[in-house]
Amino acid sequence: MSQKAMVLMYHNICVPPQDAGLRSLYVTPRMFRYQMWYLRAAGFRVAPLEVVADFAEAGGTEKIIALTFDDGFEDFFHNAYPVLREYGYPSTVFIVSDRVGGENRWDAGSVGVRKRLLTWEQINELKNNNVTFGSHTRTHPFLSRLVDEQIAEEVAGSKRTIEERLNLPADTFCYPYGDYDSRVAEAVRNAGYRCAVTTKRGRVLRGDSLFELRRSFIRLNTHPLLFSIKLHTAYEDRKGGRR
Ligand SMILES: [Zn+2]
Repeated sequence: MSQKAMVLMYHNICVPPQDAGLRSLYVTPRMFRYQMWYLRAAGFRVAPLEVVADFAEAGGTEKIIALTFDDGFEDFFHNAYPVLREYGYPSTVFIVSDRVGGENRWDAGSVGVRKRLLTWEQINELKNNNVTFGSHTRTHPFLSRLVDEQIAEEVAGSKRTIEERLNLPADTFCYPYGDYDSRVAEAVRNAGYRCAVTTKRGRVLRGDSLFELRRSFIRLNTHPLLFSIKLHTAYEDRKGGRR
């Protein structure tokens, strides 16, 4: 009987360009395909993030995994989506609403590479194919450094934009850089989101706050053995300081 669920965190699904900084943010398409195969082979149920929120509230017995992709990079469309569709897996992509169709302006300078982001056309195709879109704010700021009005604009404003563009509710939120405090989390709750994911590591337990959901970071160097260790043991809990 499982009493824990897990949310996997991905960024880019592609081979990292030669000069890319933060190479850990990449997972190669080949490794991604292996990981999706493994989830099925090992008997996990890949479920929407909302099901993990249900689990945090009420518990459950299934081995639940949710797949999340931060920033809404275009490589999701070309390299992740075809594999997800093949396996029939749901997923959640967190988009930066004012940057859709553009580039990663928030960190292109620091990581040394400009990356294309999904367009609204691609997003509208994906939304009909088992991909759910959540908010990653309007412009990807460090939210805890902003005044209340700016936080509201980033948090509630992005929700409004996504819902207008998709004609669907945007119920999930992801803190840029994993940066939040109680004021930020409260703004996310007040904006009407159901849950929010962090960059705190660990599995999700019954009773966890819906606005501080932990995740497991899947990286370029997450080889198959480490991937299975993350899924089957308390490895991520230990890394996240949770015993
Ligand atoms: Zn981000």
